Amino acid sequence: METVLEQTALLLRNMALCDYCLGRQFARISPTINNREKGRALKLALFLEAVKKQEQELITLLASNGGLDEAIHHLRLTETTKKGCDICGGLLNETKFKGLAEKAADLLTSHEFTTFLVGAKASAEVIEREDRLRSVVGISEGEDIRNDVKREVAKIFAELTGKKIEYASPDVVITVDIFRDRVDVFPNPVFVKGRYLKHSRELPQSVWHCGYCWGRGCEKCGYTGRKYPLSVAELVGEPAKHIYGAVDYKFHAAGREDVDALVAGEGRPFILELKKPVKRNLPLHEVEKQINENAKGLVTVLLEGYSTRKEVRAIKLTSPATAKTYLLTAVYDVDLDEQAVKALETRFRNVVVDQLTPTRVLRRRREKLRKKLVYEVEAVLADRRTAVFRIRCQGGLYVKELVTGDNGRTRPSFAEYLGAVPASMELTVVKVET
Ligand SMILES: [Zn+2]
Ligand SMILES: [Zn+2]
Repeated sequence: METVLEQTALLLRNMALCDYCLGRQFARISPTINNREKGRALKLALFLEAVKKQEQELITLLASNGGLDEAIHHLRLTETTKKGCDICGGLLNETKFKGLAEKAADLLTSHEFTTFLVGAKASAEVIEREDRLRSVVGISEGEDIRNDVKREVAKIFAELTGKKIEYASPDVVITVDIFRDRVDVFPNPVFVKGRYLKHSRELPQSVWHCGYCWGRGCEKCGYTGRKYPLSVAELVGEPAKHIYGAVDYKFHAAGREDVDALVAGEGRPFILELKKPVKRNLPLHEVEKQINENAKGLVTVLLEGYSTRKEVRAIKLTSPATAKTYLLTAVYDVDLDEQAVKALETRFRNVVVDQLTPTRVLRRRREKLRKKLVYEVEAVLADRRTAVFRIRCQGGLYVKELVTGDNGRTRPSFAEYLGAVPASMELTVVKVET
């Protein structure tokens, strides 16, 4: 097996290499040593060996392909003997790294962040050149050139800004391309967790486009492109986007209610994702206040804390264990039998309900049989024709159809036992358990 010095000589015979690019070929031997130091140490050691053995050719090689000042002085040559690095073209140097770090700091001056991560780009051409060299010389201890760039820029950036490197979930990702002299910054999203109450029966959870023009704007929608002018998502997201200086937002909720259903009680959990924010650490009671003032009584939010992408995935999974509680007021056009209404409480204790996709949503959703649990029902008569039901059931159950039976498509149903279908219903979500 060749010694490290023999390999160094072999590498330099193949290519001109700067200290970084030479040292990097041995990166995995004692990895804590910086590649630049390692490269220079190898060149110096090889130089001493060459001087001792009076190997003129090797000293010349160190002066030209190694660009080693000591070798140049020894041979009384001039700087022009030095050849530019064949891998990086001399771009891997302190000045360049500092320039990139400063550029990144400039781009982030107005951004709030405490942690960052640097990523680097290199052209396929550069990487191929280095791979070819390694296979010719037979070296297997090298690392990727991008690691040198990442490490050095991150070190300088940390000193410059006092921010910390974080691998798992940095506030900001900085990507640098030393070959194109390009720096980009990507502030990661901020996630705000909370619950919302909805006080309007004409408010969808997300933007509802006009069914005639699909958002382009037409006569039917008064050129708004909307079926409903507002949505919960916008009432929460727009002011938050503004406060955080974000470029966009995404509203993730634990399920959704019908447009005409209210959300009361503890509210429905949601996570607001704010994309590329300038601010990250605002006091949530301030944000909450601004959202609520702006929502003009249509929506109220309770913000609970900052959240993560992982929690977004969890909130969007409707686990079979989730339970929802609804308050439903049904008005019938016949008198109801009080006994029959009360009997619903025993009939619908832990009962599996079979539901074919409701007729009212069949246009949007495909036909499917769902089996959902009704855990508990409380039923009271408000007057002879008005019943108030409190229904606790598994998430995903269509509650209105549980009451109407949807022409036999939902079974069992309240309509089956009461022998009546309500003329109108008002639904309120009072609790969402996740
Ligand atoms: Zn180089
Ligand atoms: Zn329209």
